[in-house]
Amino acid sequence: RKGNVIITGASSGLGLATAKAIGESGEWHVIMACRDFLKAEKAAKSVGIPKENYTVMHLDLSSLESVRQFVDTFRRSGRPLDALVCNAAVYLPTAKEPTFTADGFELSVGTNHLGHFLLSRLLLDDLKQSDHPQKRLIIVGSITGNTNTLAGNVPPKANLGDLRGLSEGLNSLNCSPMIDGGEFDGAKAYKDSKVCNMLTMQEFHRRFHEETGIAFASLYPGCIAETGLFRNHIPLFRALFPPFQKYITKGYVSEAEAGKRLAQVVCDPSLGKSGVYWSWNSTSSSFENQLSKEASDAEKARKLWEVSEKLVGLA
Ligand code: NDP
Repeated sequence: RKGNVIITGASSGLGLATAKAIGESGEWHVIMACRDFLKAEKAAKSVGIPKENYTVMHLDLSSLESVRQFVDTFRRSGRPLDALVCNAAVYLPTAKEPTFTADGFELSVGTNHLGHFLLSRLLLDDLKQSDHPQKRLIIVGSITGNTNTLAGNVPPKANLGDLRGLSEGLNSLNCSPMIDGGEFDGAKAYKDSKVCNMLTMQEFHRRFHEETGIAFASLYPGCIAETGLFRNHIPLFRALFPPFQKYITKGYVSEAEAGKRLAQVVCDPSLGKSGVYWSWNSTSSSFENQLSKEASDAEKARKLWEVSEKLVGLA
């Protein structure tokens, strides 16, 4: 049978390029988990994914109720689940004030981390039941959360501190909208959310890899400077960022190439190792990369897991 993979945020950028790369292979059916049904349907058509190889299902990660509904809808489809890709993200670098999810969490961490945390926890049972030879759960990370890199050292740097703000609910009512309890900073909130993604992947690995055989992985696909992620940035940044990445840092990667990289992490038998943060070198060969001290802090990962469980109603 064909494998089934859920990809969140498959309506644009990396998610769409990955859906295309996997959907074209003919060996997989892609469930595009998207907040805008029509946009996703149009996007799938525009890149030419064969109709029989994809289904669009509604998922808004900024609402825990929507996450639960998505899981119900997916289960009712009767499809087994063989791979889950947590890819969707929002990035609000110029926001002066925080905005919030339906459940009152700061939007970047609420969507990128907490929405995916609930989704992946609920779908773990489905993955466990799959009889596919390679079951995988992938959470897209980023270099920007890794302070052991040049890019990760551009201020404001990621820092979860002692998770004070998160423990208090990450809302505007009586606490800080930032995980570390500090003042709102949209760019930092995004980086923090990516550190959460990488910590969550490792905690999944520690808790469930041996028992379930599921491979948990994260990756940095390269700098895809033209995706919608930068839509909220100032125009000058959007104009200069792609050439800067292409010619100065040489970290630039096209959407198509980044999609092929993520598709490898989903389907390539040689990238089936669990607990790995994958990156690619200048000749597009994959390698197991090192995470920053904070993004590989096992004690922080455990605490993040426990606090997140409470916030999404699992504990
Ligand atoms: P895009 O903005 O193109 O894609 C993000 C996707 O997430 C969109 O499909 C968007 O939906 C979706 N999304 C946003 N909010 C929600 C929500 N509440 N519910 C469901 N879906 C939502 O950006 P990229 O493709 O660049 O980003 C994809 C991933 O790659 C992210 O995890 C990002 O952190 C990561 N990444 C990107 C890099 C880059 O250089 N671009 C580098 C490293 C990592 P819609 O289409 O409706 O807006």
